[in-house]
Amino acid sequence: MRALVWHGANDIRCDTVPDPEIEHPRDAIVKVTTCAICGSDLHLHDHVMPGMEKGDIVGHEFMGEVVEVGAEARSALKVGERVVVPFTIWCGECDQCKRGNYSVCERSNRNKALADKVFGHTTAGLFGYTHLTGGYAGGQAEYVRVPMADRTHIKIPGGLSDEQVLFLGDIFPTGWQAAAQCDIQPTDTVAIWGCGPVGQMTIRSAILLGAKQVIAIDRVPERLAMAKAGGAITINFEEESVVERLNELTGGKGPEKCIDAVGMEAHATATLDSMMDRAKQALMLESDRAHVLREMIYVCRPAGTLSIPGVYGGLVDKLPFGMAMNKGLTWRMGQTHVNRWTDDLLNRIQEGQIDPSFVITHTVPLDQGPEMYKTFRDKRDGCIKVVLKP
Ligand code: NAD
Ligand code: ZN
Ligand code: ZN
Repeated sequence: MRALVWHGANDIRCDTVPDPEIEHPRDAIVKVTTCAICGSDLHLHDHVMPGMEKGDIVGHEFMGEVVEVGAEARSALKVGERVVVPFTIWCGECDQCKRGNYSVCERSNRNKALADKVFGHTTAGLFGYTHLTGGYAGGQAEYVRVPMADRTHIKIPGGLSDEQVLFLGDIFPTGWQAAAQCDIQPTDTVAIWGCGPVGQMTIRSAILLGAKQVIAIDRVPERLAMAKAGGAITINFEEESVVERLNELTGGKGPEKCIDAVGMEAHATATLDSMMDRAKQALMLESDRAHVLREMIYVCRPAGTLSIPGVYGGLVDKLPFGMAMNKGLTWRMGQTHVNRWTDDLLNRIQEGQIDPSFVITHTVPLDQGPEMYKTFRDKRDGCIKVVLKP
């Protein structure tokens, strides 16, 4: 089959590789009809996430048709069924899965020892990601093996296009969880850093969850325009001070809820002049790595919530933690517990409350995937979300 394969930093290729096979009775094989490139895939492309090996098949946003089912998954899944596959593999039996904490499933990561060594704990197995999360072959491919397939799927009813439901596997529940864990009240202002695909889903989710005012921050004009079309007030962080503008829009009080939909990328694009005064800038200059996190701590209203769907790895230091403590801020973060949210979100799509396909700007065949990684990373050609057709 054809698949997108990691060969090293800045080197993802479309290769011919062996078809996947059932390896365990709980496995299924899915023929991929549509898949997508995620901001998290850029961490692999740019090789800022460790634990990749040459030959790894990438991709964790995909859907398709079940073509083979192992003996132990047959009561839950049938050949011919149409499924979106969540990016988090979950067993359904461990203590964390029983609590709905699927992204920290204790049994789906087959490289537990490696994960413990680097993260200090085990996360769930993830598709097409680092060997720290199990090194499972990804879904930017014609076929994919789905481990623990009796749990790891979202069944899709007829009448909905691939594009309408594909994002149930990652970015829609990710944006939703980021907003939902802010416990949004009708009087709340929600500020969202990052208008990439995750930020866009977060904006729509915060509005569906009834926020009084949603403010979106980025510097890419097309992304800001899409945020505005979704109902947000926008701030271009290259043109104005984010903190000053947020204070202005909240009567000097600051937003009650602040969401980081940027992650590690912030250290590369931080503009220190968007900060408040020289003394604070001096503190921030020591490391721009946690620019968004710092901005959130400074501007969030006391007793507010910081929610962090953006992905970080390793150390992020020089945070004004004393300010966070004394403001009494609540922190929520993590990889998304995808299946916790998907029944509700599928209903909302069916009811017409939202059509997540609005975010797609590019649809291309799988073999154009490698160049599309670069278009998406560099935000060229108005690229916001790339969909691939194997
Ligand atoms: P993306 O790279 O397309 O979007 C990031 C956006 O942030 C860009 O539009 C960029 O211009 C903007 N940005 C950069 N620096 C900024 C700053 N200082 N202030 C405001 N905006 C800034 O990626 P994406 O697909 O939207 O993903 C966003 C993040 O979410 C990534 O870190 C990704 O790994 C993560 N993610 C997490 C989960 C999860 O389960 N928690 C799932 C999917 C993606
Ligand atoms: Zn993702
Ligand atoms: Zn589990």
